[in-house]
Amino acid sequence: MNRSGEVVSGGPVRSAPAPAPAGRPAEPQLKGVVWERTGDGLRVVYDRRDQFLIADPDGVVEALLGLLREGGRTVDAVARALSVGRDPMPVADVSAAVALLDEHGLLEDGARRGALPPAEAERHFSNLAFFESFASLSRSREDFHRTLRSAHVLVLGTGGLNSNTIPHLAGLGVGRLTLLDRDAVEARNFARQYLYRWSEIGMRKVDRAAAWVRAFDPTIEVEAIDVGIDGPEQLGELLDRLRPDVVASGIDHPDGVDLWVNAACVPRGVPFVRGGMWVTEGVVFSVDPGRSACLRCYFRPGTAAGLSEDATTVRAGLRLLSTRSRTNRGIGPVAGLLGALTAFEVLRYLTGLEPPAYAALPVTIDFAAGCATRQDEWARDPACPVCRPRTDHGVAAGDDGPRSATPGRG
Ligand SMILES: [Zn+2]
Repeated sequence: MNRSGEVVSGGPVRSAPAPAPAGRPAEPQLKGVVWERTGDGLRVVYDRRDQFLIADPDGVVEALLGLLREGGRTVDAVARALSVGRDPMPVADVSAAVALLDEHGLLEDGARRGALPPAEAERHFSNLAFFESFASLSRSREDFHRTLRSAHVLVLGTGGLNSNTIPHLAGLGVGRLTLLDRDAVEARNFARQYLYRWSEIGMRKVDRAAAWVRAFDPTIEVEAIDVGIDGPEQLGELLDRLRPDVVASGIDHPDGVDLWVNAACVPRGVPFVRGGMWVTEGVVFSVDPGRSACLRCYFRPGTAAGLSEDATTVRAGLRLLSTRSRTNRGIGPVAGLLGALTAFEVLRYLTGLEPPAYAALPVTIDFAAGCATRQDEWARDPACPVCRPRTDHGVAAGDDGPRSATPGRG
């Protein structure tokens, strides 16, 4: 099989796929693939970045694609159908061809589809169509959807950042959301917090955010917790009680709260995603416990260790800037973009459709330079008191690092 263009590849799947329907062998189903004949071959396209040129002098491949597009046949049945009016087609040959097509992301298992109630399939029509791109014989688009429906995200803060994350999580159909915030709705929120209504000024923000989710999609389980964060122990207790799959953090107070989130999440193996904004810069990063460096690594003692002169200078400037009185300057388009990127990173963690993109690799967006982006990886600190290999799973200590230079403000 000859091909040109960039290979589209899904990352390793983290969540185990749903078990195959009991007793039902796979029924390979061609995705939304189109092809045309070019002399003795076929031009086959699924993704615009990727096309396949397949030799097919006797038309067998085209016949195979036609049968796979119809679906509803096992490999054995496909082999039998291909043998009608031709030489007998060995099952092993069909099996090898199916494996090759699956390897290139062109198939999913029709036997793993069709279980969703029609109303649910209609509600999630575009989500399912998106997941088709990442589906395979071992994991259908509906498997991705079911993973999201059974997922639980703890959303820390329902303000500037996460009021733009929550709608995306709800739209994706994340089955359970726990929202935490301690503020009331204020007039100044309306530059970027579109979950709230003018008539709700003075009301508790987290209650209104939860009401928004319930009104948007009553099938989403949502809990509101009207409280602030006062330390890593409190966060640890929350995580132990709630057992979320991922934390989406958009809070910037009290000082040091990001390190508290880090200290609570990392030992418990709970990934967290943090979005935030400076004056005309935005950033999204995540921490993937056991796989990536953690936030405490970024604040390793002896700041010059492992950092370039530029990075050290930048960090010193951030510390100085952090002493300035806080004014959140995030406008709606900025918060909206960061909220969307945060939600997409959460989606990566929940479904494993591709590896996390910002794990210890924050993406920074310069809103004063055409939204130019850059990514700078953090090095892992082998002596990190939070993420170094350990046997106990208590809340890590040692979070006496810099408090306010964390890239991000909610
Ligand atoms: Zn660390």
